[in-house]
Amino acid sequence: MKYIDLHTHSSFSDGTMTPATLVDHAKQAGLSAIALTDHDTMAGVPEAMARGLKQGVEVIPGIEISSSYNDMFMHILGYGLRHDDPILIKRLAKIQEARKHRNERIISKLCKLGIEVTMADLKTYSKEGQTGRPHIARLLLDRKVVRTQQEAFSRYLRKGERAYVDRFRYEAGVAINMIRDAGGLAILAHPVTIAPRLAGIRNLVKNLQNMGLEGIEVYYPAHSSGLTKILKQVAIENEMLITGGSDFHGDNKPDITLNLARERLNIPYSLLAEIKKRLGRRLKVEG
Ligand code: AMP
Ligand code: ZN
Ligand code: FE
Ligand code: FE
Repeated sequence: MKYIDLHTHSSFSDGTMTPATLVDHAKQAGLSAIALTDHDTMAGVPEAMARGLKQGVEVIPGIEISSSYNDMFMHILGYGLRHDDPILIKRLAKIQEARKHRNERIISKLCKLGIEVTMADLKTYSKEGQTGRPHIARLLLDRKVVRTQQEAFSRYLRKGERAYVDRFRYEAGVAINMIRDAGGLAILAHPVTIAPRLAGIRNLVKNLQNMGLEGIEVYYPAHSSGLTKILKQVAIENEMLITGGSDFHGDNKPDITLNLARERLNIPYSLLAEIKKRLGRRLKVEG
């Protein structure tokens, strides 16, 4: 059996491994294919693909776009899209700018709380890529302001806490279109984080499908076997793609390893074959 992991982060967003090291680890974990799905950037994709060719690990270009729908925050995954699409890059730059501006405001709030940190301190935690709250959490950990990164979120960075600052997000429909316009397939990421018991999931999926959503991330570490079953059923009912991944972040989420994708989630290669079939049909129609 061949296994895959379609949800991973590198140091181009808030993972701790470079794309090349991530691919090396995927190889060691016995995975046949991975998708690199950094938050709001595809800058790590060329490095991952080049390493994948060398290592014999198939690398699928991907992304995870933070978005909102009504009052909910949700992440939309994209697969098979062009990483160098100029319109996509321009649209993503708006999120990247917003995150940077938001970080400055968080740092200033922390300073007002008597925690002396600067943007320059923060930059040392994200050499290649963009900087986000997980990097701020690491900085607070190293400064011994908190004992764990989780504590940094629960005491300072989480919504409602003292150093929380909101930032711009695209509407889910816009995020879906961004992915489609760049030639990719849009998938709803980890539905459990939107509604812990999946209340209203059928309606939500239907509405997003009308906007161009093509699949659901069914296999995910935080999905119980019961929830996984429901999500699989919803995907089948709507003739949508089924995907899955570990959401690997390296040391930023130490409990999540790439082995998980093969040993516990057991995500079969056949799901990727379906994704590629749909991408192939898309190319034929366009070409
Ligand atoms: P940002 O996009 O910069 O606001 O950072 C969001 C990232 O922070 C998410 O993708 C998670 O990886 C992480 N994160 C968000 N909330 C929490 C939390 N409560 N505990 C730990 N990590 C979190
Ligand atoms: Zn993340
Ligand atoms: Fe996510
Ligand atoms: Fe993720």
